[in-house]
Amino acid sequence: MNLTTLDKQLIAEAWTSPEMYPNLEALCDFGSRFAGSPSELLARDFIAEKFRAYGLSDVRLDPFDYLGWWRGSCALKIVAPRERAFDAISLVYSPATPAGGVCAPVVDVGMGTEKEYARKQDAIKGKIVLCSSANPETGRAPHRREKYGWAVQAGAIGFIYMRHLPGGLPETGSLRPGKLGEIPAVAVSYEAGFAIKRLIEKGETIAALDVQNDAKPTVAHHVVGDVPGETDELIVIGAHYDGHDISQGANDDATGTCMVLELARLFAPLRGQLRRSLRFIAFACEELGVLGSTEYVGHHLGEMNQIALMINLDSAVGGGPKGFTYCGIEELEAVFKGIAKETGYALKLSEKVVTASDNFPFFMEGVPAVLMTAKTDDPALGRGFGHTAMDTLDKVNRRDMHECAMVGARALLRLAQCETLPRRRTPAEIKAILISQELDEALRAQGKWKFG
Ligand SMILES: [Zn+2]
Repeated sequence: MNLTTLDKQLIAEAWTSPEMYPNLEALCDFGSRFAGSPSELLARDFIAEKFRAYGLSDVRLDPFDYLGWWRGSCALKIVAPRERAFDAISLVYSPATPAGGVCAPVVDVGMGTEKEYARKQDAIKGKIVLCSSANPETGRAPHRREKYGWAVQAGAIGFIYMRHLPGGLPETGSLRPGKLGEIPAVAVSYEAGFAIKRLIEKGETIAALDVQNDAKPTVAHHVVGDVPGETDELIVIGAHYDGHDISQGANDDATGTCMVLELARLFAPLRGQLRRSLRFIAFACEELGVLGSTEYVGHHLGEMNQIALMINLDSAVGGGPKGFTYCGIEELEAVFKGIAKETGYALKLSEKVVTASDNFPFFMEGVPAVLMTAKTDDPALGRGFGHTAMDTLDKVNRRDMHECAMVGARALLRLAQCETLPRRRTPAEIKAILISQELDEALRAQGKWKFG
């Protein structure tokens, strides 16, 4: 096989792909693809159909049971010092409030870092916590699920999650992986949060929450297809196809799904020609706390020894520098530096164990895992429009899609062909990596620590 010729073919195909943008349009037009919604099924069947049309082998739906969650009514009212209602939405897996709702003073925990929670520890019991989605400029950025977990631990009876960017948009997200949270939790816009903060600064501020949601056991499906190689050693290329129920989830994660589809399209014709086999997976239920991929890994533990690398394409399309974040396994830096050198493309490389996406369950099993990234670098922007109602098709730049597909395809070609990739890690090694990145407490707060 002539790598240079093939490389040029992949570049040309990725730049001129007639499929990639129409795929994005189709996925966004279905709707949110939220777990348990009719649009989830439309997207699932669409992806399977495309996998088949592109020529993947053994295209299949991989089912699993989980706790579905459906949004109901949500009312947030400040009742003292004076009455004022605010628009609010439930966070995913918020339980319903008891009949009549809950009513309590509001405690502002700022950004909701561990330190801020420690400072207000004694003031939280029996109260409703107000917490921002902002994170400190330096140091670790705690995830929403940690901020919620600390509020629960401190005995709060309600949680108000305030977006840190203006624009009138509440930011949704899940509270617990695949199970109901312990206390009701709602999201409000920056403006609403600001108004509540202003009241708190002046004196006792009492809020009333009345939230109705539904939850019941249901089934979801991953969509899986293969490109057999010369060996059984596997590279998994995945992204989640579900979005949040309040928007199209265009960036997060219709774009990642389109990347999986596009790489499937580009590599399916190479069946039998690559050293490693490729497994393409569109994961369900990522937005429920990385639930789907966790289930996938749990159901396919025997496969983990076969997987040389997991590449997560969650939100992989963006206008920033394109590159890869490798999680905890240092030899991957040399692998990707080698690819950058060989392709003459300045990949942006970084090291961090990303816990809140589909690479993480693979990493927890010791499988080397990376995340493709193309985000602009400003941490103040946080998720951007992600997880808000405005994560819509118009935010995605078509040119970025083609460039990301090109970068992804060139990297994948070399990863599929290179002689060796880093070995699988032992549980003790994974535990040590997590502790070295100060993630043990964070994972405990989220109910995801499994090392005792
Ligand atoms: Zn995502």
